Parts: sequence; structure tokens; C-alpha cells
Amino acid sequence: MTDPAETRAFWQGLGLPGLFDVHTHFLPPPIQRAVWAVFDAAGPKIGREWPIRYRQSHQERVEILRSFGVRRFSTLPYAHKPGVATYLNDWAREFAADVPESLWSATFYPEPEAAAYVASLVDEGVEVFKVHVQVGEFELDHPLLDEAWGVLSDTGTPVVVHAGSGPVGNAFTGPEPMRRVLERHPRLPAIIAHLGAPEFAEFLDLAETYERVRLDTTMVFTDFFFPFPSDLVPRLADLQPKVLLGSDFPTIPYPYVHQLEGLARLDLGDDWLRAVCWNNGVGLFGERRMPSH
Ligand SMILES: [Zn+2]
Repeated sequence: MTDPAETRAFWQGLGLPGLFDVHTHFLPPPIQRAVWAVFDAAGPKIGREWPIRYRQSHQERVEILRSFGVRRFSTLPYAHKPGVATYLNDWAREFAADVPESLWSATFYPEPEAAAYVASLVDEGVEVFKVHVQVGEFELDHPLLDEAWGVLSDTGTPVVVHAGSGPVGNAFTGPEPMRRVLERHPRLPAIIAHLGAPEFAEFLDLAETYERVRLDTTMVFTDFFFPFPSDLVPRLADLQPKVLLGSDFPTIPYPYVHQLEGLARLDLGDDWLRAVCWNNGVGLFGERRMPSH
């Protein structure tokens, strides 16, 4: 069961028109199966049992999000090695054409072609990028990425960055590589996935320091994830305009509504919830996709 009623009651109770979820995944079916197999095996990048709740076809998963009232959502492909970004991006382009409310998403990887395909996707109207350091195992400040960061900064194109060391860290995760990128590109509109878990405090620093750095809530505040330190909660209140709802749907081991319950029990008030669950996403991306130029 997918329990749409509870999810709809949450946003209706706030007087919102729906939810804006910046962190959901839709991947080409063979890649999606491979990702799920990694979670099922609780492999070294996962580190624990992770029973995925929403395993339907991608068409059914779109309908599930619609039934929840998620009115905009991303697809966030991510490349784990060189040479696959274009395949992922081509699939994501078709998905975006078929699903008008989705955020047209793309990815890049440190490879010689990155700057060119990033620039051309931005030009075509792509709305958000995703990079995943924990899976891709590359340096965020790799020289082959520098031009791509520059394009995103110049055009104000957001990029969701999984840079924190959760669920399991490696030599490339943590706040320092992100900090080095921001020192070179202080206008980069980075969205820090999972609020930077587990290095919450350091990533909050970056959002407080750099005007365009934002944070997504993905999996944070649920019973399943790294506990969020209570002494940081007042900083989240001050960061209200920079916190965006993210869920990691479909790769979550609990009902979708549990993410929303986690946000509500922070007790930061209905205005904070309205900002995080809808208004901030609309402010950044718009209520619908802009016609591409
Ligand atoms: Zn994710």
C-alpha cells in the first residue's frame, strides 16, 4: 500500500497546493535494477539492511508521487564511472519530456567531455544536475570539473551534491572538497544532499557562508538515518529559505510520509514547513518547467 491519504493530509493541513521534492530518483530500468541490487545486498556502500519500499515500474512510481500530491520532483541520475553520463542524461531527457512536472535532471563526471555536455544541457533547458561523490568516488575539485562548475555558477543552474560521508564514507566524501569548490566558485548554486549527513555542522557552515548554497532534507529526521544533533536545530530555523524537501523516493525503507513526520517533529512551525515543502522549491525552480529557449 502506498498510503496517499496520510501524505495528502500533511500538505493540505499546511494549506499548500502539494509538495515539491527536489530529491527523488528515476533511472533507466537496467541501472535502477543494478542500484537496487546493491541496496538488497547491503553492500559496503550501504552498510546495513535497506529494504526498499517502492519497487514498482517507473511509470507506476510517477503515479504514486502524483497520488501523494508531489507536484514537482527530480529524477537525479548519477554517474558512477566515466562514459555513462550521456546515456543517463539521454534517458533523463526523455523522461522529462514524458513527465511534465518532473525537474529535468542530468549528471556529470570528471571526464574530458564534461564541460561541453554540461553547457549544452544547460542551454537546452535542463533544470538540475546531480553528482554523487560517495558512489562515484571522485574529487569534487577535480580539474576536469572546473569548467562545469563555472557554467553552473554563471547560469545559476542548481546541482544536488551528495558529498557527505553517509551512509558510508570514503576518501572523497566530507565537507572539505565541497569547500574548495566553493572557494573557487562562490556563486555555485549547490544543494547539499542529506543536509551533508553525517557532517551536518560543517555543511550548515557552507550554507551559512555562501549565498546560493542550499540543503536538502533527504532521509534526515527519519528514524532510519543518522540522528540530527539537537543543538543544530536553531540553525535550521535561521536557514529556512535554504532548506528544501528531499526524500530519496523510491529507495527508502519506510513510507514516504515518514519523511514529512520527521520534519514536523522538529517543531519549527508551519511557516518553516511551508517553506521547506513547497515555497523554497518553487522559488528556486518555478511551479512548472520554463519553456526552453
Ligand atoms: Zn539520493
